[in-house]
Amino acid sequence: MIETPRQLFMRHVAPTSFTPLNIEVVRAKGVYLYGPNGERYIDTVSGISTANVGHCHPKVVEAVKNQAEQYMHLMVYGEFVEYPQVMLAKKIADLLPPSLNSVYFVNSGTEATDGAIKLAKRYTHRPEVVAFKKAYHGSSIGASSIWGDEYFKSAYRPLMPGVRMLNFNSFDDLAQITENTACVVTEAIQSEGGLNIPENGWLAALRERCTATGTLLIIDEVQMGWGRTGKWFGFENFGIVPDVVTFAKGLGGGMPIGAFVADKKMMEVFCDHPILGHITTFGGHPVCTAAALANINVIEDEHLVETATEKGDYFASLIEKHPRVIRTWGLGLFRGIEVDHSIDMSNFWHKTLNNNVVTDTFLFRDNAFRFTPPLIISHAEIEEAVDGLMKTLDEM
Ligand code: PMP
Repeated sequence: MIETPRQLFMRHVAPTSFTPLNIEVVRAKGVYLYGPNGERYIDTVSGISTANVGHCHPKVVEAVKNQAEQYMHLMVYGEFVEYPQVMLAKKIADLLPPSLNSVYFVNSGTEATDGAIKLAKRYTHRPEVVAFKKAYHGSSIGASSIWGDEYFKSAYRPLMPGVRMLNFNSFDDLAQITENTACVVTEAIQSEGGLNIPENGWLAALRERCTATGTLLIIDEVQMGWGRTGKWFGFENFGIVPDVVTFAKGLGGGMPIGAFVADKKMMEVFCDHPILGHITTFGGHPVCTAAALANINVIEDEHLVETATEKGDYFASLIEKHPRVIRTWGLGLFRGIEVDHSIDMSNFWHKTLNNNVVTDTFLFRDNAFRFTPPLIISHAEIEEAVDGLMKTLDEM
């Protein structure tokens, strides 16, 4: 008997939960995912803040095809002059403050986190790493060590030693950052933590404390970067400049790529004692960097940064009309929706699928879901998504 793709998925693709979303997708375009039997889903998650320019943007697809025909992997990262990589590094540096000018390419967000932590330890010669409760920065052992939740990390101990977890938004806790601290890792706005926006002045106070103690401030832009919050980068909403930023997800336009960015002087520590202080085979892959460059150009040309807030506000004004919505909050096209606490949200994302909407809740916030659609979403598509979400809320 021939097994269906769904049966093969359940049998051979390693699971991460016993209740995967399980929809079959044969094609994706813009904000829509298409199934084999004519199903059409509107995507309000963007593969977790990844498809910022929508699925299969023609400019990104063209860049991928062209580069695949020129060359793919040639040599381990950091040895050859590869044009797509060079042009992307320049583009990223041009968009960032002048002190963030040297781009180390990796393949994912968790690698960017690990690389940035290694950089900070090597640069400062200090042992301690500070991060915040409810934070998520990746699943490799380094990034898992700063996962802000005991439930998720305790099964994997011993993890990286010397980690201190503080409370996000606590001014008092900042005193625990000392001359012993190599770096502080945080998002400007905690995404999986439940879209936690820092209180007035808190990020500036964190920046000040890091500067006073010679600690590097690493801002994780994996979800907040590339226009999501109505600025190019999440940290720009708070008037601070980090020492290091990390990227992945929305950088690649659908292709796998990550990066951490710092000042060249800092990055040079990887060249000496030990030489090859951080290495990767596929980091800065030609096809992925070509796709990322096309992706950034689309964000720029289609004014996706400038329009994100107005679209997010439009969504909020519609969904707030539903009687079971308590409030919405957030920036740009990263919105949280808090619903009536009597609603059982445990299978919310399965239920919205029945109304053809892909959605997601938060790792560390109950009674809420997120709205993080591709930034190219139109007003009509926002209305369609809201329709499906409201129908689901009606049914619950
Ligand atoms: N940082 C943040 C804020 C994330 O949301 C994620 C992934 N959800 C990561 C890092 C890790 O990225 P990746 O899955 O590409 O390793």
